[in-house]
Amino acid sequence: MALDAAWAADWMRASAAAMAENRQRLIDLDRDIGDADHGENMDRGFSAVVQKLDTDGIPQTPSDVLKLAAMTLMSKVGGAAGPLYGTAFLRASTAAGPAPELDPAAVVAVLTAARDGIVARGKAEIGDKTMVDAWTPAVEAAATAAAAQAGPAEVLAAAANGADAGLAGTEPLIARKGRASYLGERSAGHLDPGAASTVLILQAAAQTAKADA
Ligand code: ADP
Ligand code: MG
Repeated sequence: MALDAAWAADWMRASAAAMAENRQRLIDLDRDIGDADHGENMDRGFSAVVQKLDTDGIPQTPSDVLKLAAMTLMSKVGGAAGPLYGTAFLRASTAAGPAPELDPAAVVAVLTAARDGIVARGKAEIGDKTMVDAWTPAVEAAATAAAAQAGPAEVLAAAANGADAGLAGTEPLIARKGRASYLGERSAGHLDPGAASTVLILQAAAQTAKADA
């Protein structure tokens, strides 16, 4: 489907479904190296986004949907992830601009802005074992796909695959940011929960883009 406001709303609904389905898995990942609340935080945040879409209806543009998500995630997710995802979606909303649909270049711009927002807010570098380790390879894979003339759904699929590879890469890392960094070397040998939720969000984007294509 075209990456219009209806797609962006579908993306948020699919993200909410993925958070509900993976709630326990994200809780367990966060129990290993954090405080076991990431699944609860993300499920609460995205179900609030869906509720807001249900009451307000679908906004005009993809940018408007991303802004609604940003505001809602910022106020409902809490923890470290709330402000990080809130900033990501807010920057993504700005990058999407007034366009009624996102083309491949706009998808790359949106994902890049989201990643840059997370880095600006959390100051994590690649290799610090955070969600940045999923977002950065996602952005790179998306840019490579767009440069090779891939369509918007393929660019999102590339991003999701890049994020998934990045998630796997967090396992051996020692956390240098966030709660997991308190564990020092004991944080190695576990996947980062925020990188795992990032994969779910980008997979939801790709799956909804592919629907009816
Ligand atoms: P909290 O750590 O406050 O309990 P969550 O459990 O909801 O918050 O989120 C934890 C996730 O947030 C981590 O797995 C990591 O991916 C991400 N995170 C934490 N601190 C940072 C940071 N400074 N930069 C980027 N991501 C971070
Ligand atoms: Mg936590």
